[in-house]
Amino acid sequence: MLLRMSNLFLRTLREDPADAEVPSHKLLVRGGFVRRTAPGVYTWLPLGKMVLENVSRVVREEMGAIGGQEVLLPALLPREYYEETGRWTEYGDTLFRLQDRKGADYLLGPTHEELFTLLVKGEYSSYKDFPVILYQIQEKFRDEARPRAGVLRGREFHMKDSYSFDIDEEGLQASYDAHRDAYIRVFDRLGLDYVIVSATSGAMGGSASEEFLAVAPTGEDTFVRSTGSDYAANVEAVATPAPPALPIEGLPEARVHHTPDTATIQTLVDFLNAADLGRDFTEADTLKNILVKTRAPGVDEWELLGVGLPGDREVDLKRLEAALEPAEVALLDEAGFAANPFLAKGYIGPRALLDNKVRYLVDPRVVTGTSWVTGADETDHHVVDLVAGRDFAPDGTIDVAEVRDGDPSPDGQGTLYTARGIEIGHIFQLGRKYTDTFQVDALGADGKPRRVTMGSYGIGVSRAVAAIVEQSHDDKGIVWPREVAPADVHVVGTGKGDQIGEALRIARELEARGLRVLVDDRGGVSPGVKFTDAELLGIPTGVIVGRGLKDGVVELRDRGTGAREEVALAEIVDRAVAACRA
Ligand code: ATP
Ligand code: MG
Repeated sequence: MLLRMSNLFLRTLREDPADAEVPSHKLLVRGGFVRRTAPGVYTWLPLGKMVLENVSRVVREEMGAIGGQEVLLPALLPREYYEETGRWTEYGDTLFRLQDRKGADYLLGPTHEELFTLLVKGEYSSYKDFPVILYQIQEKFRDEARPRAGVLRGREFHMKDSYSFDIDEEGLQASYDAHRDAYIRVFDRLGLDYVIVSATSGAMGGSASEEFLAVAPTGEDTFVRSTGSDYAANVEAVATPAPPALPIEGLPEARVHHTPDTATIQTLVDFLNAADLGRDFTEADTLKNILVKTRAPGVDEWELLGVGLPGDREVDLKRLEAALEPAEVALLDEAGFAANPFLAKGYIGPRALLDNKVRYLVDPRVVTGTSWVTGADETDHHVVDLVAGRDFAPDGTIDVAEVRDGDPSPDGQGTLYTARGIEIGHIFQLGRKYTDTFQVDALGADGKPRRVTMGSYGIGVSRAVAAIVEQSHDDKGIVWPREVAPADVHVVGTGKGDQIGEALRIARELEARGLRVLVDDRGGVSPGVKFTDAELLGIPTGVIVGRGLKDGVVELRDRGTGAREEVALAEIVDRAVAACRA
């Protein structure tokens, strides 16, 4: 491949686009890789299209290696199938809906579980047909509430979506594991720095769903990682290690104190420290009890739940939802308190909850032998030295307190800190959600029908392009990893006449040696402009044919390290080939 900048459809820009905030958005537009067509809708220009294709090629190779077969389904889909699974409405405003000339409803596919399920149902019917993995690389459409950062979150974007079909749990696990391994190879080859985090809480089976997050401060996903190991997890999935239980013997007795106007933790701590109780108190010495209501799926009645946690921590609502999934949960409102007069708001203690058969779960740090200041179930009263395992016995633990920087890592190594990432892939054991809806069975060896079980797996192909740039750029431009770079080598003829001619000659030789070559053979463009463009475009290896040519030398450059070296003209082709194959 030889691309000549003298006729390449490319215009680089010196200024950042006005709507761009993150580096990848700025650089992909300035480098002429993409152009905005509408909010969240982008056109891929020649160099950008090459990068997109390179990412797609890596994905295809690794999907092929696990036996995935590529198909291409339509993006324009009739309403009926999404109606059957409920997603026509569930998707809400994110779904692009349209009508044909006869008034029939259609949608633009946001993801294709329905269609793949029906496809397999239509073709396969025996256990011998399974397992099967099908995938496609296709434009997806989602009317995102906040399209952002160029192709990072588009409304039309490229996704690899695959679907596995198996007849039993072991098969599904194997298909899932194969995808996980394939994703690791894909993202390694793309040169991405990423973590794999469990997307659901451990309570639900742990690895039933995992996300691949490219580490980047501009990412929208928060996760925690450890200072002392490669532990990484979604905040929802962090399990707080329980400290060892403490001896109860010899602990002072619990005593109720009159503590007027101390409905908040801070007023309580101030009051205790002002009262002469012989020791200092902090928020962490208090046990605060939060009241929520939960409702299991398919059940009408809400049930009360008390959550006890150290007073220096807030309940993290996302962790609360994850911990109680699939039940719904909401904080108890005024009406809820009014309906349960035994709840002395601001002064709730374990006693009233347990006496009134309210399920009471505590933070894992509330182990036997820990002493607490907590509500005495009477307005303006608290109890001091209430000991877990002696004075109250909770119904169990619930891990929903906010996770903070400096908390111990669950694997016992180092402490946690918060980081941000870009979701580039997602693997998910769907189970029989869709095969139940569409009644997809395979006849087993025993002649009995078996319900097929599914996995669904996505990679954001266009988002990955942006994620790569987020991780691989400097203040001058992009630094493409070689696997995805639009070319291996960028030959720049800086001057006039024979410098450009010589650059072209070298470029042709490099092409003949199998390299993908971009050559700057533009006349009437200053060397400064050419160098600036070369740095912006980010091709990994550069060959500069400039003033040294009259002395028989050219320059070999490495875009990543910035290293520059004078090389004799006679050796440049061999040296450039070696650099590109290193
Ligand atoms: P997000 O949480 O970022 O909205 P998602 O969980 O909705 O993503 P999935 O439905 O799991 O995404 O889609 C599979 C993959 O497609 C994601 O892992 C991501 O890489 C990519 N993707 C999803 N939405 C977009 C988008 N609007 N623009 C670009 N890529 C996207
Ligand atoms: Mg996802």
